[in-house]
Amino acid sequence: MRLVLLGPPGAGKGTQAARLVEKHGVPQLSTGDMLRAAVAAKTPIGLRAKEIMDAGALVPDEVVIGLIDERLGASDCANGFILDGFPRTVAQAEALRELLERRGLTLDAVLELAVDEGALVDRMRKRVDETRAAGGAVRADDNPESFKTRLEAYRAQTAPVSAHYARRSELTKIDGMAPIEEVTAEIDRALSSAG
Ligand code: AMP
Repeated sequence: MRLVLLGPPGAGKGTQAARLVEKHGVPQLSTGDMLRAAVAAKTPIGLRAKEIMDAGALVPDEVVIGLIDERLGASDCANGFILDGFPRTVAQAEALRELLERRGLTLDAVLELAVDEGALVDRMRKRVDETRAAGGAVRADDNPESFKTRLEAYRAQTAPVSAHYARRSELTKIDGMAPIEEVTAEIDRALSSAG
């Protein structure tokens, strides 16, 4: 199972990726999580990425491509992976194809969680409230200003990634506005028909 999950911030990629991990026993590769870990550990990549991430912009392609290249070589990816938050630019999508080609692999599916933009800010606020209520740490980029930049980055740089996969007839759109269980069921159906 080699899968890409696309969709704007707040579309539910992380939630659905966690369910797919359970079901298929392959790891979730979230470049956002990898970068947040690098920031927390103050690695050179983390130090370089922190300000960019806090502002809601995209870190340079070569940084995330390097992270994914390293991760794809790890033994837990032997049976596949779920990419969550990567690729986010057409250059990243092309790099991914090359990284996979080098390993003799292709993607099984590219799923886009389609969501009304108007719902996204509310979802972000809800996530902040729930995280606070649970006593967790709120993401530095889950604030209205950074979220606006993240949406702009999505529109300008990541929406073309969906178009890129659609042109190659590799894209399946999923209704991300449906309740979580229904989104999961629709993803299951899409994956069964993808073989
Ligand atoms: P996420 O957790 O996927 O929402 O990512 C959080 C932040 O990490 C993004 O707003 C970007 O600053 C950075 N980031 C994560 N993945 C990528 C990527 N594939 N390309 C560029 N920046 C990324």
